Amino acid sequence: MKTDTIAAIATGMTNAGISIVRMSGDEALEIIDKIYYSPKKNKKLSEVASHTVHYGYILDGEQTIDEVMVLVMKGPNTYTREDVVEIDCHGGVVVTKKILETVIKYGARVAEPGEFTKRAFVNGRIDLSQAEAVIDVINAKNEYALSSSMSQLKGNILNRIKDIRDNVIHDVAFIEAALDDPEHIEIGNFSETLLMNVDCNLAILDKLLESADNGRLLREGIKTVIVGKPNAGKSSLMNILLGEDRAIVTDIAGTTRDTLEETINIHGITLNIVDTAGIRDTDDIIEEIGVKKAKENAEKADLVIYVVDGSRDLDQNDYDIIEMIKDIKCVVLLNKSDLKPKITAEQIESLTGKKVVKISALEGTGIEEFETLIKDLFYEGKLNFNDEVYLTNIRHKSAIVEAKESLEQVKQSIMDGMPEDFYSIDLMSAYNSLGYIIGEMVDDDLVNTIFKEFCMGK
Ligand code: GDP
Repeated sequence: MKTDTIAAIATGMTNAGISIVRMSGDEALEIIDKIYYSPKKNKKLSEVASHTVHYGYILDGEQTIDEVMVLVMKGPNTYTREDVVEIDCHGGVVVTKKILETVIKYGARVAEPGEFTKRAFVNGRIDLSQAEAVIDVINAKNEYALSSSMSQLKGNILNRIKDIRDNVIHDVAFIEAALDDPEHIEIGNFSETLLMNVDCNLAILDKLLESADNGRLLREGIKTVIVGKPNAGKSSLMNILLGEDRAIVTDIAGTTRDTLEETINIHGITLNIVDTAGIRDTDDIIEEIGVKKAKENAEKADLVIYVVDGSRDLDQNDYDIIEMIKDIKCVVLLNKSDLKPKITAEQIESLTGKKVVKISALEGTGIEEFETLIKDLFYEGKLNFNDEVYLTNIRHKSAIVEAKESLEQVKQSIMDGMPEDFYSIDLMSAYNSLGYIIGEMVDDDLVNTIFKEFCMGK
Protein backbone atom coordinates (compact mmCIF):
# COMPACT_ATOMS: atom_id res chain seq x y z
CA MET A 1 0.00 0.00 0.00
CA LYS A 2 1.24 3.47 -0.85
CA THR A 3 1.78 5.84 2.08
CA ASP A 4 1.07 9.48 1.65
CA THR A 5 4.07 11.74 1.54
CA ILE A 6 4.48 14.15 4.42
CA ALA A 7 6.47 17.36 4.46
CA ALA A 8 7.50 19.93 7.04
CA ILE A 9 10.02 22.61 7.80
CA ALA A 10 12.51 20.78 10.02
CA THR A 11 14.37 23.85 11.26
CA GLY A 12 13.30 26.80 13.43
CA MET A 13 11.05 29.48 12.02
CA THR A 14 13.46 32.40 12.18
CA ASN A 15 15.80 33.84 9.60
CA ALA A 16 18.99 31.79 9.71
CA GLY A 17 21.87 30.57 7.56
CA ILE A 18 19.99 27.63 6.15
CA SER A 19 16.64 25.95 6.64
CA ILE A 20 15.58 22.42 5.84
CA VAL A 21 12.34 21.26 4.30
CA ARG A 22 11.93 17.55 4.73
CA MET A 23 9.70 15.06 2.91
CA SER A 24 9.06 11.39 3.63
CA GLY A 25 6.92 8.87 1.79
CA ASP A 26 6.45 6.94 -1.42
CA GLU A 27 6.12 10.02 -3.59
CA ALA A 28 8.99 12.02 -2.15
CA LEU A 29 11.25 11.28 -5.14
CA GLU A 30 8.49 11.83 -7.69
CA ILE A 31 7.73 15.22 -6.14
CA ILE A 32 11.35 16.35 -6.01
CA ASP A 33 11.75 15.38 -9.68
CA LYS A 34 8.97 17.81 -10.55
CA ILE A 35 10.46 20.80 -8.74
CA TYR A 36 14.25 20.34 -8.81
CA TYR A 37 16.65 21.08 -11.63
CA SER A 38 20.43 20.89 -11.71
CA PRO A 39 22.54 23.64 -13.35
CA LYS A 40 22.90 21.51 -16.50
CA LYS A 41 19.25 20.45 -16.29
CA ASN A 42 20.35 16.85 -16.79
CA LYS A 43 19.61 15.16 -13.49
CA LYS A 44 16.64 13.26 -12.12
CA LEU A 45 16.91 12.82 -8.38
CA SER A 46 14.78 9.68 -8.45
CA GLU A 47 17.64 8.06 -10.38
CA VAL A 48 20.63 9.14 -8.30
CA ALA A 49 22.33 6.89 -5.76
CA SER A 50 20.88 6.88 -2.28
CA HIS A 51 22.39 9.06 0.44
CA THR A 52 23.85 11.61 -1.97
CA VAL A 53 23.71 15.41 -2.02
CA HIS A 54 22.85 17.47 -5.10
CA TYR A 55 23.28 21.12 -5.89
CA GLY A 56 20.59 22.88 -7.90
CA TYR A 57 17.41 24.92 -7.86
CA ILE A 58 13.82 24.51 -6.72
CA LEU A 59 11.24 25.82 -9.10
CA ASP A 60 7.49 26.10 -9.26
CA GLY A 61 6.59 25.95 -12.94
CA GLU A 62 8.58 28.78 -14.53
CA GLN A 63 9.52 30.49 -11.28
CA THR A 64 12.82 29.67 -9.59
CA ILE A 65 12.34 29.80 -5.84
CA ASP A 66 15.78 29.16 -4.37
CA GLU A 67 19.25 27.78 -4.84
CA VAL A 68 19.48 24.59 -2.79
CA MET A 69 21.30 21.42 -1.80
CA VAL A 70 19.09 18.33 -1.85
CA LEU A 71 19.77 15.17 0.15
CA VAL A 72 18.29 12.05 -1.36
CA MET A 73 17.89 9.11 1.02
CA LYS A 74 16.05 6.07 -0.22
CA GLY A 75 14.28 3.77 2.20
CA PRO A 76 14.67 1.63 4.18
CA ASN A 77 17.93 3.06 5.55
CA THR A 78 16.38 6.37 6.55
CA TYR A 79 14.92 8.04 9.63
CA THR A 80 11.40 6.87 8.74
CA ARG A 81 12.40 3.81 6.69
CA GLU A 82 10.63 5.50 3.76
CA ASP A 83 12.15 7.54 0.94
CA VAL A 84 13.29 10.81 2.49
CA VAL A 85 14.28 14.00 0.70
CA GLU A 86 15.73 16.99 2.51
CA ILE A 87 15.98 20.35 0.82
CA ASP A 88 18.58 22.64 2.35
CA CYS A 89 17.60 26.13 1.29
CA HIS A 90 18.53 29.67 2.25
CA GLY A 91 17.35 30.25 5.77
CA GLY A 92 14.75 32.98 5.29
CA VAL A 93 11.27 32.38 6.66
CA VAL A 94 9.59 33.44 3.41
CA VAL A 95 11.72 31.32 1.11
CA THR A 96 11.46 28.28 3.39
CA LYS A 97 7.67 28.53 3.55
CA LYS A 98 7.54 28.95 -0.21
CA ILE A 99 9.48 25.71 -0.69
CA LEU A 100 7.15 23.90 1.70
CA GLU A 101 4.16 25.28 -0.20
CA THR A 102 5.69 24.04 -3.44
CA VAL A 103 6.20 20.46 -2.26
CA ILE A 104 2.63 20.49 -0.94
CA LYS A 105 1.38 21.81 -4.27
CA TYR A 106 3.07 18.90 -6.06
CA GLY A 107 1.58 16.19 -3.90
CA ALA A 108 2.90 16.11 -0.32
CA ARG A 109 0.81 16.99 2.70
CA VAL A 110 1.85 18.90 5.81
CA ALA A 111 3.17 16.55 8.49
CA GLU A 112 1.66 16.55 11.94
CA PRO A 113 3.99 17.24 14.87
CA GLY A 114 6.19 14.20 15.42
CA GLU A 115 4.87 12.39 12.36
CA PHE A 116 8.32 11.58 10.95
CA THR A 117 9.31 9.94 14.24
CA LYS A 118 5.93 8.25 14.48
CA ARG A 119 6.63 6.66 11.09
CA ALA A 120 10.03 5.51 12.37
CA PHE A 121 8.16 3.80 15.21
CA VAL A 122 5.29 2.40 13.12
CA ASN A 123 7.76 1.11 10.54
CA GLY A 124 9.73 -0.63 13.28
CA ARG A 125 13.00 1.29 13.12
CA ILE A 126 12.75 2.38 16.75
CA ASP A 127 10.66 1.35 19.73
CA LEU A 128 8.45 3.69 21.71
CA SER A 129 11.06 4.35 24.41
CA GLN A 130 13.50 5.44 21.71
CA ALA A 131 10.88 7.67 20.09
CA GLU A 132 10.33 9.31 23.45
CA ALA A 133 14.09 9.75 23.79
CA VAL A 134 14.04 11.78 20.58
CA ILE A 135 11.79 14.39 22.24
CA ASP A 136 13.99 14.32 25.31
CA VAL A 137 17.15 14.92 23.30
CA ILE A 138 15.51 17.94 21.70
CA ASN A 139 14.17 19.26 25.00
CA ALA A 140 17.27 18.45 27.08
CA LYS A 141 17.87 21.28 29.49
CA ASN A 142 21.42 20.32 30.38
CA GLU A 143 24.26 17.96 29.49
CA TYR A 144 23.20 15.27 31.93
CA ALA A 145 19.68 15.18 30.55
CA LEU A 146 21.15 14.99 27.06
CA SER A 147 23.45 12.06 27.83
CA SER A 148 20.65 10.20 29.54
CA SER A 149 18.31 10.72 26.58
CA MET A 150 21.03 9.66 24.15
CA SER A 151 21.53 6.49 26.13
CA GLN A 152 17.79 5.81 25.89
CA LEU A 153 17.84 6.62 22.18
CA LYS A 154 20.62 4.11 21.65
CA GLY A 155 18.26 1.50 23.05
CA ASN A 156 19.55 1.08 26.60
CA ILE A 157 16.10 1.08 28.18
CA LEU A 158 14.80 -1.08 25.34
CA ASN A 159 17.53 -3.68 25.88
CA ARG A 160 17.10 -3.78 29.63
CA ILE A 161 13.35 -4.25 29.26
CA LYS A 162 13.74 -6.80 26.47
CA ASP A 163 16.08 -8.90 28.62
CA ILE A 164 13.59 -9.07 31.46
CA ARG A 165 10.73 -9.86 29.08
CA ASP A 166 12.79 -12.64 27.48
CA ASN A 167 13.43 -14.15 30.91
CA VAL A 168 9.78 -13.93 31.85
CA ILE A 169 8.45 -15.42 28.62
CA HIS A 170 10.99 -18.21 28.88
CA ASP A 171 9.55 -19.17 32.27
CA VAL A 172 6.00 -18.97 30.95
CA ALA A 173 6.91 -21.18 28.00
CA PHE A 174 8.45 -23.76 30.30
CA ILE A 175 5.40 -23.86 32.56
CA GLU A 176 3.01 -24.13 29.62
CA ALA A 177 5.07 -26.85 27.98
CA ALA A 178 5.32 -28.83 31.18
CA LEU A 179 1.59 -28.59 31.79
CA ASP A 180 0.87 -29.67 28.22
CA ASP A 181 3.29 -32.54 28.21
CA PRO A 182 3.83 -33.74 31.76
CA GLU A 183 5.19 -37.06 30.59
CA HIS A 184 8.24 -35.54 28.97
CA ILE A 185 8.79 -32.29 30.84
CA GLU A 186 9.31 -32.53 34.55
CA ILE A 187 7.92 -29.48 36.37
CA GLY A 188 9.16 -30.94 39.68
CA ASN A 189 10.83 -28.22 41.67
CA PHE A 190 10.63 -25.59 38.98
CA SER A 191 9.03 -23.21 41.46
CA GLU A 192 12.43 -22.85 43.15
CA THR A 193 14.07 -21.89 39.89
CA LEU A 194 11.19 -19.57 39.12
CA LEU A 195 11.51 -17.89 42.50
CA MET A 196 15.15 -17.19 41.78
CA ASN A 197 14.36 -15.81 38.32
CA VAL A 198 11.58 -13.61 39.66
CA ASP A 199 13.86 -12.24 42.38
CA CYS A 200 16.51 -11.48 39.85
CA ASN A 201 14.04 -9.63 37.61
CA LEU A 202 12.62 -7.76 40.58
CA ALA A 203 16.12 -6.61 41.52
CA ILE A 204 16.67 -5.16 38.05
CA LEU A 205 13.30 -3.43 38.13
CA ASP A 206 14.05 -2.02 41.58
CA LYS A 207 17.31 -0.61 40.34
CA LEU A 208 15.53 1.06 37.45
CA LEU A 209 12.96 2.56 39.79
CA GLU A 210 15.69 3.83 42.09
CA SER A 211 17.22 5.59 39.14
CA ALA A 212 13.90 7.27 38.39
CA ASP A 213 14.39 9.96 41.02
CA ASN A 214 17.73 10.97 39.66
CA GLY A 215 16.20 10.71 36.23
CA ARG A 216 13.51 13.18 37.15
CA LEU A 217 16.05 15.60 38.59
CA LEU A 218 18.03 15.32 35.38
CA ARG A 219 15.16 15.88 33.13
CA GLU A 220 13.16 18.48 34.93
CA GLY A 221 15.83 20.11 37.06
CA ILE A 222 16.20 20.30 40.82
CA LYS A 223 13.38 22.20 42.44
CA THR A 224 15.22 24.64 44.63
CA VAL A 225 13.94 27.09 47.19
CA ILE A 226 15.92 29.92 48.72
CA VAL A 227 14.97 30.75 52.28
CA GLY A 228 16.28 33.26 54.77
CA LYS A 229 15.02 36.14 56.82
CA PRO A 230 14.33 39.46 55.11
CA ASN A 231 17.45 41.26 53.94
CA ALA A 232 19.69 38.22 54.32
CA GLY A 233 20.61 38.58 50.64
CA LYS A 234 18.36 36.07 48.87
CA SER A 235 17.55 38.32 45.93
CA SER A 236 21.18 39.35 45.61
CA LEU A 237 22.20 35.67 45.50
CA MET A 238 19.59 34.95 42.88
CA ASN A 239 20.87 37.84 40.76
CA ILE A 240 24.42 36.57 40.95
CA LEU A 241 23.37 33.07 39.96
CA LEU A 242 21.29 34.38 37.10
CA GLY A 243 23.97 36.85 36.13
CA GLU A 244 21.54 39.69 35.79
CA ASP A 245 19.27 41.99 37.77
CA ARG A 246 16.13 39.90 37.67
CA ALA A 247 14.91 39.91 41.24
CA ILE A 248 14.25 43.29 42.80
CA VAL A 249 16.83 44.02 45.49
CA THR A 250 16.08 46.62 48.14
CA ASP A 251 17.14 47.23 51.69
CA ILE A 252 13.58 47.55 52.95
CA ALA A 253 12.81 44.31 54.73
CA GLY A 254 10.26 42.15 52.97
CA THR A 255 10.24 43.54 49.43
CA THR A 256 10.57 40.25 47.59
CA ARG A 257 6.87 39.49 47.67
CA ASP A 258 6.09 37.48 44.62
CA THR A 259 7.48 34.06 44.01
CA LEU A 260 9.85 34.19 41.07
CA GLU A 261 10.87 31.01 39.29
CA GLU A 262 14.05 30.91 37.25
CA THR A 263 16.24 28.22 35.77
CA ILE A 264 20.01 28.17 36.19
CA ASN A 265 22.64 25.68 35.12
CA ILE A 266 25.44 24.70 37.47
CA HIS A 267 28.04 22.33 36.01
CA GLY A 268 25.38 20.99 33.67
CA ILE A 269 22.84 20.52 36.48
CA THR A 270 19.61 22.47 36.24
CA LEU A 271 18.25 24.23 39.30
CA ASN A 272 14.69 25.48 39.03
CA ILE A 273 15.08 28.11 41.62
CA VAL A 274 12.36 29.91 43.49
CA ASP A 275 13.07 33.09 45.38
CA THR A 276 10.44 33.64 47.99
CA ALA A 277 9.54 36.12 50.60
CA GLY A 278 11.65 35.89 53.75
CA ILE A 279 10.37 33.45 56.30
CA ARG A 280 9.33 35.30 59.42
CA ASP A 281 6.38 35.93 61.67
CA THR A 282 4.49 38.84 60.31
CA ASP A 283 1.23 40.73 60.57
CA ASP A 284 1.49 42.05 57.06
CA ILE A 285 -1.12 40.21 54.99
CA ILE A 286 0.65 40.23 51.62
CA GLU A 287 3.90 39.30 53.23
CA GLU A 288 2.16 36.52 55.06
CA ILE A 289 0.99 34.95 51.80
CA GLY A 290 4.61 34.97 50.66
CA VAL A 291 5.81 33.43 53.89
CA LYS A 292 3.25 30.65 53.79
CA LYS A 293 4.22 29.93 50.23
CA ALA A 294 7.90 29.80 51.17
CA LYS A 295 7.18 27.15 53.77
CA GLU A 296 5.08 25.13 51.36
CA ASN A 297 7.69 25.43 48.65
CA ALA A 298 10.48 24.38 50.99
CA GLU A 299 8.57 21.25 51.90
CA LYS A 300 8.10 20.32 48.25
CA ALA A 301 11.62 21.21 47.18
CA ASP A 302 14.45 18.85 46.25
CA LEU A 303 16.92 21.36 47.67
CA VAL A 304 16.70 24.29 50.06
CA ILE A 305 19.30 27.03 50.11
CA TYR A 306 19.28 28.82 53.44
CA VAL A 307 20.85 32.27 53.28
CA VAL A 308 22.08 33.55 56.63
CA ASP A 309 23.05 37.17 57.19
CA GLY A 310 26.42 36.70 58.89
CA SER A 311 26.64 40.37 59.84
CA ARG A 312 23.64 40.19 62.15
CA ASP A 313 22.91 38.00 65.14
CA LEU A 314 20.58 35.08 64.57
CA ASP A 315 17.00 35.88 65.54
CA GLN A 316 13.76 33.99 65.94
CA ASN A 317 13.27 33.87 62.14
CA ASP A 318 16.56 32.03 61.80
CA TYR A 319 15.69 29.58 64.54
CA ASP A 320 12.33 28.89 62.86
CA ILE A 321 14.09 28.20 59.58
CA ILE A 322 16.68 25.98 61.24
CA GLU A 323 13.84 23.97 62.72
CA MET A 324 12.13 23.73 59.34
CA ILE A 325 15.19 22.52 57.38
CA LYS A 326 16.10 19.78 59.84
CA ASP A 327 15.09 16.90 57.61
CA ILE A 328 15.45 18.57 54.24
CA LYS A 329 18.31 18.42 51.74
CA CYS A 330 19.76 21.86 52.37
CA VAL A 331 22.91 23.92 52.04
CA VAL A 332 23.59 26.97 54.15
CA LEU A 333 25.16 30.09 52.70
CA LEU A 334 26.68 32.39 55.27
CA ASN A 335 26.30 35.66 53.43
CA LYS A 336 27.77 39.14 53.80
CA SER A 337 31.21 37.71 54.55
CA ASP A 338 32.61 41.07 53.44
CA LEU A 339 31.20 42.64 56.62
CA LYS A 340 32.30 42.20 60.22
CA PRO A 341 31.00 38.75 61.24
CA LYS A 342 28.51 38.24 64.04
CA ILE A 343 28.36 34.52 63.46
CA THR A 344 30.94 32.00 62.21
CA ALA A 345 30.60 29.16 59.73
CA GLU A 346 31.38 26.65 62.51
CA GLN A 347 28.57 27.99 64.68
CA ILE A 348 25.94 27.80 61.99
CA GLU A 349 27.22 24.40 60.87
CA SER A 350 26.82 22.93 64.34
CA LEU A 351 23.38 24.50 64.72
CA THR A 352 22.02 23.22 61.41
CA GLY A 353 24.08 20.10 60.80
CA LYS A 354 24.28 21.16 57.13
CA LYS A 355 27.20 22.04 54.89
CA VAL A 356 28.00 25.75 55.10
CA VAL A 357 29.68 27.93 52.48
CA LYS A 358 30.79 31.50 53.21
CA ILE A 359 29.79 33.89 50.46
CA SER A 360 29.36 37.55 49.71
CA ALA A 361 26.48 38.05 47.33
CA LEU A 362 27.59 41.67 47.05
CA GLU A 363 31.15 40.91 45.97
CA GLY A 364 30.43 37.57 44.32
CA THR A 365 32.87 35.57 46.45
CA GLY A 366 32.29 31.95 47.48
CA ILE A 367 29.94 31.24 44.57
CA GLU A 368 32.29 28.70 42.99
CA GLU A 369 32.54 26.74 46.25
CA PHE A 370 28.77 26.80 46.45
CA GLU A 371 28.44 25.45 42.91
CA THR A 372 30.89 22.64 43.58
CA LEU A 373 28.97 21.72 46.70
CA ILE A 374 25.70 21.48 44.74
CA LYS A 375 27.35 19.26 42.18
CA ASP A 376 28.81 16.99 44.85
CA LEU A 377 25.59 16.86 46.78
CA PHE A 378 23.58 15.53 43.87
CA TYR A 379 25.87 13.74 41.56
CA GLU A 380 29.15 12.62 42.99
CA GLY A 381 29.54 8.92 42.44
CA LYS A 382 25.88 8.63 41.64
CA LEU A 383 25.55 9.61 38.05
CA ASN A 384 27.66 7.99 35.45
CA PHE A 385 26.17 7.69 32.04
CA ASN A 386 28.61 5.29 30.52
CA ASP A 387 26.84 2.16 31.55
CA GLU A 388 23.97 3.24 33.75
CA VAL A 389 20.41 3.39 32.54
CA TYR A 390 18.30 6.19 33.99
CA LEU A 391 14.58 6.15 33.94
CA THR A 392 13.40 9.65 33.10
CA ASN A 393 9.92 8.95 31.86
CA ILE A 394 6.88 8.78 34.13
CA ARG A 395 5.07 6.46 31.75
CA HIS A 396 7.94 3.99 31.98
CA LYS A 397 8.03 4.30 35.73
CA SER A 398 4.37 3.38 36.17
CA ALA A 399 4.68 0.44 33.78
CA ILE A 400 7.60 -0.86 35.84
CA VAL A 401 5.64 -0.45 39.05
CA GLU A 402 2.83 -2.52 37.52
CA ALA A 403 5.24 -5.20 36.30
CA LYS A 404 6.75 -5.36 39.77
CA GLU A 405 3.36 -5.89 41.36
CA SER A 406 2.66 -8.79 39.03
CA LEU A 407 6.03 -10.39 39.79
CA GLU A 408 5.43 -9.95 43.53
CA GLN A 409 2.15 -11.75 42.98
CA VAL A 410 4.00 -14.64 41.30
CA LYS A 411 6.24 -14.87 44.36
CA GLN A 412 3.23 -14.87 46.62
CA SER A 413 1.58 -17.67 44.60
CA ILE A 414 4.75 -19.75 44.81
CA MET A 415 4.98 -19.28 48.55
CA ASP A 416 1.30 -20.14 48.94
CA GLY A 417 1.90 -23.34 46.97
CA MET A 418 -0.60 -22.41 44.25
CA PRO A 419 -0.73 -24.51 41.06
CA GLU A 420 1.66 -23.57 38.24
CA ASP A 421 -0.92 -22.10 35.88
CA PHE A 422 -1.42 -19.30 38.41
CA TYR A 423 2.16 -18.26 37.89
CA SER A 424 1.73 -17.92 34.15
CA ILE A 425 -1.12 -15.44 34.43
CA ASP A 426 0.87 -12.99 36.53
CA LEU A 427 4.07 -13.57 34.59
CA MET A 428 2.16 -12.67 31.43
CA SER A 429 0.79 -9.51 32.95
CA ALA A 430 4.34 -8.45 33.97
CA TYR A 431 5.41 -9.22 30.41
CA ASN A 432 2.63 -7.06 29.02
CA SER A 433 3.26 -4.16 31.38
CA LEU A 434 6.89 -4.07 30.29
CA GLY A 435 5.80 -4.30 26.68
CA TYR A 436 3.96 -1.06 27.20
CA ILE A 437 7.30 0.75 27.65
CA ILE A 438 8.68 -0.31 24.31
CA GLY A 439 5.37 0.20 22.52
CA GLU A 440 3.96 -3.31 22.29
CA MET A 441 0.26 -3.64 23.06
CA VAL A 442 -0.21 0.12 23.23
CA ASP A 443 -3.30 1.69 21.75
CA ASP A 444 -3.36 4.37 19.09
CA ASP A 445 -4.50 7.06 21.52
CA LEU A 446 -1.38 6.69 23.60
CA VAL A 447 0.85 6.71 20.54
CA ASN A 448 -0.88 9.82 19.24
CA THR A 449 -0.58 11.59 22.59
CA ILE A 450 3.13 10.86 22.76
CA PHE A 451 3.84 12.15 19.28
CA LYS A 452 1.74 15.27 19.76
CA GLU A 453 4.41 16.50 22.19
CA PHE A 454 6.90 16.68 19.35
CA CYS A 455 7.75 19.80 17.46
CA MET A 456 6.83 20.24 13.82
CA GLY A 457 9.19 18.64 11.39
CA LYS A 458 10.44 15.92 13.75
P1 GDP B 1 16.56 39.58 50.61
O1 GDP B 1 15.52 40.34 51.35
O2 GDP B 1 16.99 38.39 51.39
O3 GDP B 1 16.18 39.22 49.20
O4 GDP B 1 17.86 40.51 50.55
P2 GDP B 1 18.42 41.40 49.36
O5 GDP B 1 19.12 40.56 48.37
O6 GDP B 1 17.34 42.30 48.89
O7 GDP B 1 19.55 42.20 50.12
C1 GDP B 1 19.25 43.06 51.21
C2 GDP B 1 20.35 44.07 51.33
O8 GDP B 1 21.55 43.46 51.69
C3 GDP B 1 20.64 44.86 50.04
O9 GDP B 1 20.93 46.20 50.38
C4 GDP B 1 21.87 44.16 49.49
O10 GDP B 1 22.66 45.02 48.71
C5 GDP B 1 22.58 43.78 50.78
N1 GDP B 1 23.46 42.64 50.60
C6 GDP B 1 23.14 41.45 50.05
N2 GDP B 1 24.20 40.62 50.06
C7 GDP B 1 25.22 41.31 50.62
C8 GDP B 1 26.59 40.98 50.93
O11 GDP B 1 27.12 39.90 50.65
N3 GDP B 1 27.32 41.95 51.53
C9 GDP B 1 26.80 43.16 51.86
N4 GDP B 1 27.61 44.03 52.44
N5 GDP B 1 25.54 43.48 51.58
C10 GDP B 1 24.73 42.58 50.98
